Amino acid sequence: MTETSAVAESWDLQFQPPDRTSDQLSGLRVLVLGLGSHGGGTDLIRFLISRGAQVSVSDQSSEQELADSLQQLRGLNLCRTTFGGHQREDLTGCDWVVVNPAIPPSSSFLRQVADSDVRAVTEMGLVLSWLPSQHLAAITGTNGKSTTCVLASQMVKESGIPVTAGGNLGGSLLQELDRPEQERRFVVEISSFQAQRLEQGGSRPRIVSITNLSPDHLDWHSDQQQYQNAKSRLLEPYRQDGAVAILPTTGPFGRDYCCPHREIIRCGNDGESQPGDGVLQVQSPAGEISIPYRPTAALGGTAGLENALHAATVAAHLGATVEGIAQAIETFEGLPHRYQNLGELNGIRFINDSKATSPESAAAALERIDTPVHWLCGGKSKGSDLTALVNLASKRSLQAYCFGSVREKLGDALLQGGLTDGHLQRHETLELAFNSAVEGARPGDAVLLSPAFASFDQYSSFEKRGEHFQQLVAKRSGSHQQDCHGDETGP
Ligand code: ADP
Repeated sequence: MTETSAVAESWDLQFQPPDRTSDQLSGLRVLVLGLGSHGGGTDLIRFLISRGAQVSVSDQSSEQELADSLQQLRGLNLCRTTFGGHQREDLTGCDWVVVNPAIPPSSSFLRQVADSDVRAVTEMGLVLSWLPSQHLAAITGTNGKSTTCVLASQMVKESGIPVTAGGNLGGSLLQELDRPEQERRFVVEISSFQAQRLEQGGSRPRIVSITNLSPDHLDWHSDQQQYQNAKSRLLEPYRQDGAVAILPTTGPFGRDYCCPHREIIRCGNDGESQPGDGVLQVQSPAGEISIPYRPTAALGGTAGLENALHAATVAAHLGATVEGIAQAIETFEGLPHRYQNLGELNGIRFINDSKATSPESAAAALERIDTPVHWLCGGKSKGSDLTALVNLASKRSLQAYCFGSVREKLGDALLQGGLTDGHLQRHETLELAFNSAVEGARPGDAVLLSPAFASFDQYSSFEKRGEHFQQLVAKRSGSHQQDCHGDETGP
């Protein structure tokens, strides 16, 4: 071990900082544990090989399941590949193992890693160690990470400063080391899985924003406290001056939360950064700045306002100007699968919010929608507390269509919360729920996919679930056009 102490997984797997610079990778024998399909694993492998490392890869999934990722690695010289599970021999002769954040602490292979003398590192640990931390802003939280991350980077870009967004958004920021630009800023989305495995005493970003916190991923983290602790690892000491923590005004990171190593800026009503009348009052390094603000389709509701406040405060600390921040808010189009308006058919609006995988994000969508709503909800349980969502649903004018493996449990919870039988249906699949919702919808209504649960019972990702919803809408649009001899514009 180095002088830095390390994080203990349930069986004491010690994650460590890199023991060399990014220019000293030639000949290093690295096992990439978990290739995944979001581009992080393939980018990492490409980077390591380009720097002369000898790379092996091992993944729980089969070659078939990883076909897209493997296609991207074609032509690269991998030392060893193991698919459909990990083998003890994968570790033999390795100097480093880079553990994918999606591998759960309960994985028995991590125990074997812990028992070996191979250095366990993470891609995010390498990113934070090797990219210039004074130009780095990390964004974490339960909801709004991706939106805030992309919006903040657009604010910096509109201010004429080079910037890259990445991290949990997809891909690997390590490739940025190949284009050293003194001025480039980095906005990094960090998930709780990534944060949990950051080595203690390792490098931290100068700017850290926590958008909000509510119970989530309790099937991965052992309990709510561990989930919160994972996020707070990012707030550990920063080695230079000027460290800030941009925190919400409520919740576990709200006013009662102390952060001794950083200047704290609160975002929200009565915070240092707060909404004003047609403006955002944003705390910047030079004092308060006023940003013209009117809610847009992509930044609607309380959630949109909070994300705008966090993004503007982050961007201001990365050097963004008032004009750049205002321009990005004005032109921000939102991200796919996040309260994405797919258009109207027969006066019925279709909204794809497949990324709403927590009760709070689905509640944000129900709060935001101002018409009667046919709500498609369900998926795979993550052990979240449904009380607030269920209470809200019973007060809204809605029909709920529960689907997926959680449908019985969710349906029962909604009925107990006060929703009446006539307002609730249970279906095995999203498609069946969708068909029923469309039959029930009237002009002026909305059909909203905002599931509140993970997609993994029936889909490989929230993107695939959202794409399926889009296909179902497109199919309806197509058959409707046929019925009308093509004289209606579909979504
Ligand atoms: P994350 O990256 O944290 O999952 P996203 O920006 O991808 O966050 O949004 C995920 C879901 O949460 C979407 O359904 C979105 O509409 C909703 N959402 C976004 N920001 C917030 C917020 N501040 N509070 C509650 N829900 C939010």
